[in-house]
This record gives sequence, C-alpha cells and structure tokens, in this order.
Amino acid sequence: MNSSVSSVLGRVGMPMTTAELARESWDVIVVGGGHNGLTCAAYLAREGLSVLVLEARERLGGACTLEQPFPDERYTVSPCAYLLGLLDQRVIDELGLHDRGLEYYVADPEAWTPFPDGTAFVQWVDDDRTRDSLRALGVSPADEQGYFAYGRLFRDIRLKLRKGARDAWLDESPGRAEIEEMLGGDRTMIDVVFHASVADVLDEFMGDWRLKDALFPGAIIGTYAGPKDPGTASVKLMHRMGDLDGRGAVWAYVRGGMGMVSFIIADAAREAGAVLASGVPVSRVLPGEGVLLEDGTRLLAGEVVSNADPKVLLGLLGEATPPAMRERSQAWAAVGSQA
Ligand SMILES: Cc1cc2nc3c(=O)[nH]c(=O)nc-3n(C[C@H](O)[C@H](O)[C@H](O)COP(=O)(O)OP(=O)(O)OC[C@H]3O[C@@H](n4cnc5c(N)ncnc54)[C@H](O)[C@@H]3O)c2cc1C
Repeated sequence: MNSSVSSVLGRVGMPMTTAELARESWDVIVVGGGHNGLTCAAYLAREGLSVLVLEARERLGGACTLEQPFPDERYTVSPCAYLLGLLDQRVIDELGLHDRGLEYYVADPEAWTPFPDGTAFVQWVDDDRTRDSLRALGVSPADEQGYFAYGRLFRDIRLKLRKGARDAWLDESPGRAEIEEMLGGDRTMIDVVFHASVADVLDEFMGDWRLKDALFPGAIIGTYAGPKDPGTASVKLMHRMGDLDGRGAVWAYVRGGMGMVSFIIADAAREAGAVLASGVPVSRVLPGEGVLLEDGTRLLAGEVVSNADPKVLLGLLGEATPPAMRERSQAWAAVGSQA
C-alpha cells in the first residue's frame, strides 16, 4: 500500500487538539469521513477553502472502509461495500486516484448462482460465455433470448440517461418530466425508472425460475424489499448505471479492499489542504455557526456539510431543523408508515 491514510487503515486520529481546532474559523466543516464526505472535502480544498473533516469513528471510510476483525491482523476485510462500479471516471481522473495507487480488477464472472441439483448459472462479462452457461442448463431458446433482451433494456436506459446530450448523473439533475423526455417517452423504460417491481419486469422477458432467482438479488440488494415490491427494478437499474474505465456497467474488486477507495481519496483531500480528524463525534450542527463536538467544544464554520445520512442530520440539527426540512421529513415518515 502506498497511500499514507491506508498505511494506518484510515485511523488518522487527531491532527491537533480540539482546542487548536477551535481556534480556527473554518470555511467548511464536513460532518463524516465516508468516501462522499472525503470527496467533497477534496474538491472544496482544491478550490482554496479551509476544510475540516470530522469523523465519529476511529477509521475514515464509513461503509467503504477496511476492518481487521480477527486477532490475526493479517486478515483485513471490507466490512460493508465490497465491489466498485459506480465511482465516476471524472472523480478518478480529477483526484488522480490511479496515480495515488487505486487499482481494481473487473469481476468476471459477475455472478455465480448454484442450484440444489448441483448445476449453476454463471454470468460472465462476455455474452458468449454466458450463453454457454445458459445452454448447459438447458434453458429454452425463448428464455435465452429473453435473458439478453432484459440486459439490453437496462443498458439502453443507461445509455439514454448517461450518454446522450445530458448526463443525468454529472449534469444538472433532471426532474421527472425531463427524465421521461430523455427516455424518449418509452413507457417500459419509464416504468423501470419510477415504478416497476423487478418480478414484473422479469415476467415480461423469461419464465425460467432459475434465471429469475439468479437475477432477483441485483434488484433487492441493500433494500428492505422483496422482488415483487414496486421500485425494485430501479434498484437493479442503479447498479447498471456505472461506466468503469469506459467498459459500461461492470463491477470490480479493489486491490487492498474497498477501503482503499476512501483512503486514497483522503490522501487527495489532505494533499489539497483539508484537515482530517477521526474519533471525533459531532453532537450538534449549529446553523450559521458551526458544530458542537460531543466533548462540548464549539467549532466555527461558514458552512457545514453533512456526510451523515439525512436522519442523523435531523438529529444533529434538533430544534434548529429548518421548517422546510422538517415538513419534508414528516411527509417522508408518513409515506414510510403507509408502506
Ligand atoms: C453492507 C453494505 C454493503 C455495500 N456494498 C456496496 C458495494 O459493494 N459497492 C458499492 O458501491 N456500494 C455498496 N454499499 C453502499 C456504499 O457503501 C455506501 O453507499 C457508501 O459507502 C456511502 O458513503 P457515504 O460517504 O455517503 O456515507 P457513509 O459511508 O455512511 O459515511 C458517513 C460517515 O459519517 C459518519 N458520521 C455519522 N454521524 C456522525 C457524527 N455525528 N459525527 C461525525 N461523523 C459522523 C459515519 O461514521 C460515517 O463514517 C454497501 C453498503 C452496505 C451498508
């Protein structure tokens, strides 16, 4: 490992005492040192702003980190995120992540699904190899065609949303009407983006339960949903929206584990001048003022950026939650309780 943050597996600790941190008036304090908070810090510091990242845990990286859970420290594991596929090329290039040591290898096969009778379905990056696996399983010609047509549907949506005149991820976020327009008004595609369950979409393309069982996980991973729940088709789509190394929606294993992504971004942030501190929980966000640490220290900042998830942020804001944000969170809570 040639990254300085990775050499301590993200445990950067305190660069100075909290009293010294409190003497500064920071342009920006980032609450949380997950990979998104660190990326934000790197970009802001590159613009010349004074940036302080405060991570509650001992290690940086959030859900994209490394742990040594066993007494034998030779075993380093990615405890949460384990595959790279959605990190954008622009970030890789602009923060010089390859030059800083980021290496990854495309996962091929992408998936291997064993069945009780001892057979297995293998999904390769190369369609011909996947076709061989389908034929070895004795899948019908109609289902074989359906399998590839299903893959093309998601590929085509990605191309329309990411490779046309406007990139739905990198350019200004489109609203619903604009997304429908980008999809050329195609009802099937619009349904995948906004409503459909993955089970309903798969029913349109194939009947073989082995294939469906192999394809469901890609649409429910990371959700509290089952394949028949509305919206799961869009989860599958989200996982097919990347373009790693210009190879389309492939996924890759990171050399050293996923935490390397965060640690190398942390190096970029630190080199740009951001100050990184771990083991420092923020207990309050004070709008217009800064943050309060759990130990009672008050840190001043022109802006506070939350890398913590929205629910945590609402807790940190407490009574200071702006009315519009409070109303929106109550509306979402009502939707959640009806689901
Ligand atoms: C089990 C699991 C598996 C996953 N697998 C993959 C995968 O293979 N590939 C993939 O691309 N994605 C995967 N994901 C999703 C991905 O890990 C997350 O989307 C991503 O890590 C989120 O990064 P983030 O920086 O936005 O937030 P987080 O990683 O959640 O970082 C937020 C940080 O804020 C800190 N924080 C919170 N409150 C405070 C506070 N009060 N004070 C200071 N700090 C605070 C937290 O400790 C945390 O470090 C997986 C997620 C999980 C949970």
